[in-house]
Amino acid sequence: DTIGGNFDRTVVAFGDRDALVDRAAGRRWTYRELAEEVDTLALGLVSLGIGKGDRVGIWSPNRWEWTCVQYATAKIGAILVNINPAYRSHELEFVLNQAGVKLLVAAASFKTSDYAAMIADVRPKCAALEHVVLLGGDDWTALTDAGRRGDRARLVELQAGLSADDPINIQYTSGTTGFPKGATLSHHNILNNGFFVGELCGYTEQDRVCIPVPFYHCFGMVMGNLACTSHGACMVIPAPAFEPKATLEAVSAEKCTSLYGVPTMFIAELADPGFEDYDLTSLRTGIMAGSPCPVEVMKQVIERMGMAEVSICYGMTETSPVSTQTRADDSIERRVSTVGRVGPHLEVKVVDPETGRTVPRGEPGELCTRGYSVMLGYWEQADKTAEAIDAARWMHTGDLAIMDDDGYVNITGRIKDMVIRGGENLYPREIEEFLYTHPDVLDAQVIGVPDEKYGEELMAWVRMREGAEPLTAGALREFCSGKLAHYKIPRYVHVVDEFPMTVTGKVRKVEMRTQAVSILG
Ligand code: ATP
Ligand code: MG
Repeated sequence: DTIGGNFDRTVVAFGDRDALVDRAAGRRWTYRELAEEVDTLALGLVSLGIGKGDRVGIWSPNRWEWTCVQYATAKIGAILVNINPAYRSHELEFVLNQAGVKLLVAAASFKTSDYAAMIADVRPKCAALEHVVLLGGDDWTALTDAGRRGDRARLVELQAGLSADDPINIQYTSGTTGFPKGATLSHHNILNNGFFVGELCGYTEQDRVCIPVPFYHCFGMVMGNLACTSHGACMVIPAPAFEPKATLEAVSAEKCTSLYGVPTMFIAELADPGFEDYDLTSLRTGIMAGSPCPVEVMKQVIERMGMAEVSICYGMTETSPVSTQTRADDSIERRVSTVGRVGPHLEVKVVDPETGRTVPRGEPGELCTRGYSVMLGYWEQADKTAEAIDAARWMHTGDLAIMDDDGYVNITGRIKDMVIRGGENLYPREIEEFLYTHPDVLDAQVIGVPDEKYGEELMAWVRMREGAEPLTAGALREFCSGKLAHYKIPRYVHVVDEFPMTVTGKVRKVEMRTQAVSILG
């Protein structure tokens, strides 16, 4: 099925149910009302000469128009190009040119980001860019006015010309390990992934899903929006960008049944001084994904937030994204400490990155995924595609994993983040989990720094809890001594207020390693 076709069916089945709530805009739509906005916008795009295969960029924090653009482009077969709201003009120019964006829809500004000024700056350098529409501006009004005058029958015709295997979306990876790459995804890729994520969360039209994670990323637009629209559930946007208070408020005011986040978001919510004042009793489930989550945080999410059925998902932009997910009926131990089993209609295996051979269960190696979810390829980067997807269509994830006898997967880190100290392979994840048990430590990240004697040495970056004394290297050694093997005890400690992060809430260890080199002189 196509995304537009699936959406239309939901409108028929659940037209009177809530579809979307934008808390910052103070507006809400039922499925029938949302379909009206989407169709209008789709016809507006057609009036500007946008059609199948044309690239339409969207550059904005989370707001209702983002979702409308997502479904409007899908209906006419235009390829949506998600642009990270944290980008600046240089990165914007790269994406607009790399993807050959013909029309760009953007927020005029948000907080310190003057999107309009950055667009004006790069526009002369983007040959393919014909139209820019600023949200809420005159062009937006003109676009929707034109759409209202459009002929609905035209949309039906256009939809009939689409195939589920057409490319419909270019999503750039988070850029955690290097420059972002544009994953080209089909209707089939992302609609199925959203649908199955929703199935495993048990979504129905009764569910209300709070989505504080960015729409530009697959977590927001696939696991969020597509999971909801394929089940008739309601999407709740707590705020344009993540804020712990706004999120907790949205859950309590909208009686959300499900809440999404990366670990750092849940950590911030749980640490919010007003946490106890919010009524979170409506929460049943949710998704934790994006980076490794400390077991202790998972336990608190279940116990203090009442998300009894919360699941952990593992995946990557290139695989639509989800490959493995925990199920509500998995044992609690597995639900807090693994990323679950492979999703429906997908395959995973763990291989030796050197030889490509599958390793025995219980041994670490590189995780590979195969199935409907694997992207069509990186947009106009055939060489990068060939490095990532092999001849048998296995996607090589670059993540280290261990699979147990029952098929449960544990992500032990990224190949690029593994530290090799004196010939010993060290997995930062294991050490981070341990540091997290220190009562004064709010969050901890471990990296390798160059060392003359051992090749690499371990450095821990820690964020202290409010009021706690900064941790010293000596105190850390004492805390670890006798509990961690001596070679796993970090030699250096660096106390920070924040880690360098991507907008998707991932810690940028590449950036930490660069900074560490200058800190150590
Ligand atoms: P780039 O590829 O540009 O360096 P990125 O890999 O962070 O950035 P994404 O596609 O957003 O871009 O993230 C996918 C990665 O996130 C996975 O490869 C994995 O390393 C990590 N990840 C996702 N979910 C989990 C999880 N539940 N547990 C641990 N790691 C996870
Ligand atoms: Mg990646």
